[in-house]
Amino acid sequence: MSRPVRIALIPGDGVGGEVMAEAVPCLDWAVARGRCLEAVPLPYGAEHYLATGETLPEHAFTTLRDGCDAVLFGAVGDPRIPDGRHAEQILLRLRRELELAVNFRPCRPLAPGFDPAINLEIYRENTEGPYCLQGTTEPGRAVDYAIHTEPAVHRLLACAFQRAAVLGRPLLLAHKANVLKHGHGLWLRVYADLKAQFPTVDARTMHADALLCALVQDPKAFGIIAADNYLGDLISDLTAAYVGGMGMAPSLSWAPHRPFRCAALAEPVHGSAPDIAGQGLANPVGMFLSLALLFRHLGWEPEATALEAAVGEALHAGFRTRDLGGTHGTSEMGKAVRSQLPT
Ligand code: ATP
Repeated sequence: MSRPVRIALIPGDGVGGEVMAEAVPCLDWAVARGRCLEAVPLPYGAEHYLATGETLPEHAFTTLRDGCDAVLFGAVGDPRIPDGRHAEQILLRLRRELELAVNFRPCRPLAPGFDPAINLEIYRENTEGPYCLQGTTEPGRAVDYAIHTEPAVHRLLACAFQRAAVLGRPLLLAHKANVLKHGHGLWLRVYADLKAQFPTVDARTMHADALLCALVQDPKAFGIIAADNYLGDLISDLTAAYVGGMGMAPSLSWAPHRPFRCAALAEPVHGSAPDIAGQGLANPVGMFLSLALLFRHLGWEPEATALEAAVGEALHAGFRTRDLGGTHGTSEMGKAVRSQLPT
């Protein structure tokens, strides 16, 4: 028998734990359907940090990197830790040190009332850019560095080009090379090399500010959008509005060159949402759909499709959390989705 796929579960902070609790039973469902997996629950997050002083200890990082195949992540961020140090040492460290350079954020409306003809896929570089957390603060002067390296940019853009080629969909690179001449200049050079290697892909570039305006005016005109860490973050929060908001949007990050055993991390696009945490109001759909992306990444296409369909059916049956204008709580919504899963 093949060894089980080991999935680390890190609920993290705020609504992270609430939405994770709804998705975890889907792992048992996958097992009942014959998938061989083992869940590895890990406690890291604000509560653990405040109680122990530990963010992500070395032994846990090593277990994750060498002893797990993937991570299902909730969210990190807690008002009691305003500098976000634990978030930096948990989530940003995992993204960076597991080299999860590709962050995939699809935008496909499933809820009634949202245009199902919109079909966007954001490919966001996940480890560099201005989120490299390097800089200085001096009296009257603050500097944040943005680091862009050719291997990471190439990994991200190559994935986006491959996807565009397979789907026959247009590819757009969002950038600001007119002002960010060095970093985004590198992006344009890597893009030009890849465009020559993918002559069938309808690829173009666009200044990110103009793109945001065009995305609001005509989202159906776009297919695959590639961007650096910062711009990809902004663009994908904007496109989350097309699926119903932050609670609805999924993401999957992976290391295309797979240097480690653990080479994928699924997490909803939203953060820990302290304003609604602990009240049973969080929408678990983004988490369910992130797990579906992870199932697909593991090659479990029937489970991925069934979970996405279950979300669509629950929404069409009228289940909606407050962010979607409904009255159902997190657990009612979760139950409604799981009740639609085939046995
Ligand atoms: P981060 O920077 O970590 O992504 P953020 O500052 O962008 O976090 P979020 O925590 O994502 O902020 O919250 C943004 C808004 O979206 C808040 O009003 C929050 O209540 C709402 N929100 C986030 N997640 C959900 C959810 N699962 N269900 C309903 N509303 C949510």
